[in-house]
Amino acid sequence: MQRIDHPLPWSHLGTERTLSVFRYGAGTRKVYIQASLHADELPGMRTAWELKQRLAELETQGQLQGIIELVPVANPIGLDQHLQGSHMGRFELGSGKNFNRSFVELGAPVAELIGDRLGNDACANTALIRQAMGQVLDGLPAPVSQLDAIKWRGVSRFGLGD
Ligand SMILES: [Zn+2]
Repeated sequence: MQRIDHPLPWSHLGTERTLSVFRYGAGTRKVYIQASLHADELPGMRTAWELKQRLAELETQGQLQGIIELVPVANPIGLDQHLQGSHMGRFELGSGKNFNRSFVELGAPVAELIGDRLGNDACANTALIRQAMGQVLDGLPAPVSQLDAIKWRGVSRFGLGD
């Protein structure tokens, strides 16, 4: 298992938040799993924790036939939201916008980049789509809010490349 920590912006002075990716296995095939973009939905995180243990066992036994990337806490910003003793976690507090809505439209710009280059080789197509997706994400403006940070640096980015 490889743990990859991605620092997030907008931490308070003296604090730091990270998105942690736990990567199991090796190969060209890849699966990405995340839990609790709505950070108040705890069953997903609990399930991901169990899955983390199982994936470690399977990796040790050499039974994984590809890469599985697991993000048990997809929204550490939301996980940290408490108001008068109640956990929040569904809405970015600055804007009131839902963490799990209004994603950046990536399909059209990715399709435009790819054009007619898809062929009969599924692996080559996957690589081409991942490359184009990364290129589109790299072209997005810098995040200007915690909401953007979670969506652009987190869930949209993982699973694309190494
Ligand atoms: Zn939800």
